[in-house]
Amino acid sequence: MRKAGPVRKAEAVVAKATASVRKASPPRTVATTTPSGESRTALVRRARRINRELAEVYPYAHPELDFENPFQLLIATVLSAQTTDLRVNQTTPALFAAYPTPEDLAAADPQRVEEILRPCGFFRAKTRSVIGLSKALVENFGGEVPGRLEDLVTLPGVGRKTAFVVLGNAFGRPGITVDTHFQRLVRRWKWTDETDPDKIEAAVGALFPKKDWTDLSHHVIWHGRRICHARKPACGACPIAPLCPSYGEGETDPEKAKKLLKYEKAGLPGQRLKPPQAYLDAGGKPAPPLGAA
Ligand code: SF4
Repeated sequence: MRKAGPVRKAEAVVAKATASVRKASPPRTVATTTPSGESRTALVRRARRINRELAEVYPYAHPELDFENPFQLLIATVLSAQTTDLRVNQTTPALFAAYPTPEDLAAADPQRVEEILRPCGFFRAKTRSVIGLSKALVENFGGEVPGRLEDLVTLPGVGRKTAFVVLGNAFGRPGITVDTHFQRLVRRWKWTDETDPDKIEAAVGALFPKKDWTDLSHHVIWHGRRICHARKPACGACPIAPLCPSYGEGETDPEKAKKLLKYEKAGLPGQRLKPPQAYLDAGGKPAPPLGAA
């Protein structure tokens, strides 16, 4: 049915007014300002493509701390400060054999725990941390690791990074883990020029759907540990080189770059003593126990 003349006229006025408002509105700043100078849309596309390609390179990517339950992952993550995941994985079997629950560790003799944790470095401070953490779990959460960010960060020594590791990997709740590798790589890729971990987390989170956050964290951290190292990135052996604005920051000769690869990319053992089956199926090797060659 044709509309009556005044109605058509009113609609035309509204359309004209809307058009002029649109014209007068300032451009959305998120659309044009990115650290790489590319458009926001191009940045999102490139970032997601990097994540897709890394998913093909590391289809078996997983957290590199051995754990069998949320309590073990929480303790292992706290212990991983200032040391390697490998060293933590070599230390925790004895710890969890002696103190399998928060109640056990809360009531532990600190000297005995110190002896067990000695290989992790900073063992006195770490002993205080894990005993204090276990006491808080017992006193405030009935001996269970809480599955909410706001609860986890109330635990002594637990910040957002540790909380997201636990949420993402023990509770299946998406989280971005901004560790040293993550910070370095997202800046090399010019996904953000933020330096504060919380701001990096927000900036990178905005480039990806939430459901991808945990796997994205694994892919980025795995790439940082195996290929895109802090001092000598192996650019000549890097599968995402065409997407990287920092290509050339490291070794570009393919043969020399190959020699810089680490872990399974160089046919060497990984960090976990008990890696997931997918990793073993792909040719990955378990790490040796403490004291083994
Ligand atoms: S090209 Fe070089 S700097 Fe870029 S991601 Fe690969 S290894 Fe890192």
